[in-house]
Amino acid sequence: KWEANYTALTPLTFLMRAAACYANRTSLIHHGTRFTWAHTYHRCRRLAFSLRALNIAKNDVVSVLAPNIPAMYEMHFAVPMAGAVLNTINTRLDAKNIATILRHSEARVFFVDYEFVGKAREALRMLMDNNNNIAAEATNQQHCSFSLPLVIVIDDINSPTGIRLGELEYEQMIHHGNPNYVPEVVQDEWAPIALNYTSGTTSEPKGVVYSHRGAYLSTLSMILGWEMGSEPVYLWTLPMFHCNGWTFTWGMAARGGTNVCIRTTAAGEIYRSIALHNVTHMCCAPIVFNIILEAKPSERCDIKLKGKPPVEILTGGAPPPASLLEQIESLGFHVTHAYGMTEATGPALVCEWQKKWNMLPKQEQAQLKARQGVSVLTIADVDVKNLDTMESVPRDGKTMGEIVLKGSGIMMGYFKDHQATSKAFGNGWFRTGDVGVIHPDGYLEIKDRSKDVIISGGENISSVEVESLLYRHPRVLEAAVVAMPHPRWGESPCAFVSLKKNSNDHVSEAEIIGYCRKNLPHFMVPKVVKFMEELPKTSTGKIQKFELRVMAKAFVVS
Ligand code: ADP
Repeated sequence: KWEANYTALTPLTFLMRAAACYANRTSLIHHGTRFTWAHTYHRCRRLAFSLRALNIAKNDVVSVLAPNIPAMYEMHFAVPMAGAVLNTINTRLDAKNIATILRHSEARVFFVDYEFVGKAREALRMLMDNNNNIAAEATNQQHCSFSLPLVIVIDDINSPTGIRLGELEYEQMIHHGNPNYVPEVVQDEWAPIALNYTSGTTSEPKGVVYSHRGAYLSTLSMILGWEMGSEPVYLWTLPMFHCNGWTFTWGMAARGGTNVCIRTTAAGEIYRSIALHNVTHMCCAPIVFNIILEAKPSERCDIKLKGKPPVEILTGGAPPPASLLEQIESLGFHVTHAYGMTEATGPALVCEWQKKWNMLPKQEQAQLKARQGVSVLTIADVDVKNLDTMESVPRDGKTMGEIVLKGSGIMMGYFKDHQATSKAFGNGWFRTGDVGVIHPDGYLEIKDRSKDVIISGGENISSVEVESLLYRHPRVLEAAVVAMPHPRWGESPCAFVSLKKNSNDHVSEAEIIGYCRKNLPHFMVPKVVKFMEELPKTSTGKIQKFELRVMAKAFVVS
């Protein structure tokens, strides 16, 4: 009986509402370009129309490789308005990873910003090339009939011009679209809206699927959790390809805020945007704190202006050291610390600030803030469980266990990967692979990671991916890659290698690093390679990464 009155939850309604309520308010600023919410809505409808005209149908995947530019923002609405699923690709990935994602997602359309045309071309070439590994694999799998996506280039106002790829261009698509196009009403809130690939723990990227419902609820939860007031001016220092900008892509429409888009997260751009547009909010990984702190005097401006509230920063993606929190706040920023992952639609915990902490010395405040915190509203429950017994650990701030989560903010599952999906969930809990403690006040703190992932400057590096490349080196017998501390990037990969005995060829650290550079995106390349006679093993013959992690902690990167 109630079904007749049912309205599906979808963040698309935020844009419709913004266009109706805040038609003349500035929705987006980008290098001299300014749009209002009425413009943004029109542009998205036009683009959605053009996508439909290209026969993009329900649940088709539309991939995009672009920085934080207007097109990237608009696609967060236009693609699902056309009934399709948005797949934003991390621009730091190399051509091989991009090809894998395009193939696995069976992308029908591929939007590419000019800056990344070279990489995209290489990825497409790999897809076409029957002789390369990817295509060879594909012939044995069900995706052998995969046809290349239609490429649409984005000629952003600020993008470097280069080789043209494909016949179509983004602005032409908008120009030829019908502004009166009425998108179909979303009938099913469980329908997929976005597909985000995370490197996770295995070498192949896994496609995390979000539903319209999950995206809607997570957006509201983030706005509330961060206590974001009306008319925020939001600076895009967090890539939109990270969990759809932790949902603030949709969130800015919900709040009728202004998006300030910047192509690169450079110190000068950040300071200039804050001063010029009166930025109130931004999200970023802790690495951006270093960028801000290391700005040249000519790039800086005073953030701490009289009568002006501090710029609110939401940080996460990697642990922010307490000292860094203290330094950045002294410049006129106010930081909220969040913890999450792609599978949780971004932040799952937030270090909710308690008023009574304001009385404490600054250093102590920073230490409390460096804890990962309590669950956001879409996380119904969070616990820390003993890895062997799966019993809850005591709330003593000492006993470690795996952090597990439940709730409507958690992904629907991994695309076309039932096995990985079942593995990720245990008794209804999503297993984060992070090891932490619960303090007596209920706040969680991460202590370690049980999964093989290294987080360098907020970017995930799958140690398995680097190891499998090392194993392909003709001289390498065994390889293990773990995180080592890095003063700038937080962590960086450190490789432990043992060499084949029956060969006299000498191989140096520089050669191994050079080999990795040729075959991996640069941020994944080990900064240090240590040679060992034999890697330490458990009784069952598994390489003891735990031991190697302890050793790597002592290494210093110059
Ligand atoms: P994102 O794209 O948001 O970085 P990923 O899925 O790539 O998400 O990485 C998630 C992992 O990053 C977490 O499982 C955890 O290990 C780490 N992480 C995220 N936020 C924090 C934080 N605030 N403190 C410590 N580690 C964090």
